[in-house]
Amino acid sequence: MNMQYRMLAAEAAFHALREDLSMETYWDNLKNSWIWEELYRARNYRPAFEYGLVPGLAISALEHYVLKGKFPFTLKHGKPDHEETDVAKLHCPIQYPKPDEVLSFDVPTSLHRSNTNHEHDQPAHLHLRDPKIPEVINLPEYAGPESRYCPARVYEYNPDDKGQPKLQINAQNCLHCKACDIKDPKQNIEWTVPEGGGGPKYSVM
Ligand code: SF4
Repeated sequence: MNMQYRMLAAEAAFHALREDLSMETYWDNLKNSWIWEELYRARNYRPAFEYGLVPGLAISALEHYVLKGKFPFTLKHGKPDHEETDVAKLHCPIQYPKPDEVLSFDVPTSLHRSNTNHEHDQPAHLHLRDPKIPEVINLPEYAGPESRYCPARVYEYNPDDKGQPKLQINAQNCLHCKACDIKDPKQNIEWTVPEGGGGPKYSVM
């Protein structure tokens, strides 16, 4: 799905450059595409569970099987995504299965296949608003969520000279999903546009 967005954006950018139009073409293309139709039909599934498990299942089933996306209104999420992150002590660690190398792969293999590339000397595109928050709040209270949700393992806590955990940002691996910008519990991570379109590259085999 993410790739489809990128292709639509690339097409809009191409037409905007060629015909001196504005990037609003992207918005029009998106609204007229199957992506918009599919997302619109599914818009109420997740927020329906704000009302509890049973109402959520009932509303989702009604929407899916009977109304087929024609619910007369759009339900809202209760609060922003970053405020939904609980402190780690309320949860048990999840033990994920190892990649099976058939359908799932380790991070270096997945990164290699994403064709991600950034110029080695380009300016950093990921910024911490307050550099102390990772070690003072995110790691002790939230078990370092940025090192868990980032699909490219950009954020790593490694020991510094004194053996204390210190956040290291491997920005060259970034896939530009923007999860860190959205999900960081203190909204401390700022994603900015990388220089020269660096990032994953779509290639036709
Ligand atoms: S944008 Fe996505 S891939 Fe890039 S650092 Fe943030 S979470 Fe990781």
